[in-house]
Amino acid sequence: MDFTITEDQQMYLELVRKFVKNEILPGVLKREEEHIFPEDIIEKAWEIGLMNLCVPESIKGYEVDIITSSLIVRELSYGDTGISTSAMCNDLANIVIAQHGTEEQKTRFLQPFVEKPLIAAFCLTEPGAGSDNASMKTFIRKQDDGTYLLNGEKCFITNASYASQFTIFCKVGKPDGLMIACIIIPSESILEADIVTQSSGGKEIVLKEGGTIMIGKPEDKLGQRLSNTAAVKFEDVVIDTTQIIGNRRLGFTYAIDVLDYARPMVAAIGVGLARRAFDITLEYTKERKQFGERICDLPVARDTLVSMWKRMEMAEMALMKAACKVESGDPDRGIYASLAKNVAAEAAIYCANEGLHLHGGYGFMTEYEISKLARDAHIIDIYEGVREVQDMIIGRELV
Ligand SMILES: Cc1cc2nc3c(=O)[nH]c(=O)nc-3n(C[C@H](O)[C@H](O)[C@H](O)COP(=O)(O)OP(=O)(O)OC[C@H]3O[C@@H](n4cnc5c(N)ncnc54)[C@H](O)[C@@H]3O)c2cc1C
Repeated sequence: MDFTITEDQQMYLELVRKFVKNEILPGVLKREEEHIFPEDIIEKAWEIGLMNLCVPESIKGYEVDIITSSLIVRELSYGDTGISTSAMCNDLANIVIAQHGTEEQKTRFLQPFVEKPLIAAFCLTEPGAGSDNASMKTFIRKQDDGTYLLNGEKCFITNASYASQFTIFCKVGKPDGLMIACIIIPSESILEADIVTQSSGGKEIVLKEGGTIMIGKPEDKLGQRLSNTAAVKFEDVVIDTTQIIGNRRLGFTYAIDVLDYARPMVAAIGVGLARRAFDITLEYTKERKQFGERICDLPVARDTLVSMWKRMEMAEMALMKAACKVESGDPDRGIYASLAKNVAAEAAIYCANEGLHLHGGYGFMTEYEISKLARDAHIIDIYEGVREVQDMIIGRELV
């Protein structure tokens, strides 16, 4: 396993670091406080090639490998994990098309993302089916003319209010069926006038082909306030067979492939946040003096900094190993993806919490970035599967 950074990766690292320094970090706390989806930043990220990394070269996409994608997501997350979550979510929604779609489906559903700064949503979680997503109730039912009708409700969907395409996992035939399909619904591009704000309600998208998608009011969140999250309801949405990816019975297998790809990305989000928490805490403790010494020179405080650094570095190693395993399609890639996600989430939460502690009372003030990081970190341990689900996957494989 070779962790040497290639020339291409170095170029990406420099590009993202500059982007984070110039576009994300200035004003990040103000934007965060306003809780508004930063469309301008997302558009710039698209312009300089930091989005839609999984789109195949055959349709003029970047087709960036998983190791490089993880590095990009890690660096973006150093700036803000809400923004990296939103950007990464396009790949979360679109990778299933790149992996299992036909050439026609790739052109139809992926090419628009190459041409315009569009947003996609990945719809798996439901109010009654979170960790146990196989118990989902959203379903498609075949009609006499060969088309299907989609009905059901998804929740906590990243990018939902801004999405111009939805990737949905649903049951086939009836809500309590056993088979799961993966379908794609492109909708009209979102117009300026339709844009929702945190204070506005939800909206309805009436589809030309028939049916309605109802997007709920954007969720008011503890952290990652620069990402958009909302519920999505489908009412009698007409689906034709060209919108079904691969075999309509194998959606669950495809979802596992998506999560194998996505978990190293979430680990990268955790490592980026842990690194930011460590850097700003180190800087703060080098400046502030108590008992006549810099805080970083007080032995117990230095121990805490060492513990933060160790967790961050171990998470980085777990991330790189998982990214290599997923990239090479190793049979045990799933458990390494789960391991990386857990270790990185733990590192992010630890570094943010301990970093806040080392800031003393100042860390509890919203004007200090560490307080934002402490709020942002929690979701890394939850989305793409909670810690216990990762442990369940690892345990199942081990025995
Ligand atoms: C900000 C945000 C963005 C999200 N984005 C998306 C998205 O874009 N698309 C999408 O489909 N979903 C998304 N999600 C949903 C997310 O993946 C789920 O919230 C997550 O999988 C957990 O499901 P749940 O919330 O229903 O928790 P539950 O499944 O109800 O779990 C609650 C708790 O129960 C315990 N638990 C659960 N299962 C087990 C187990 N097997 N063993 C032991 N203990 C267990 C754990 O402590 C867990 O934290 C997002 C969520 C949030 C908050």
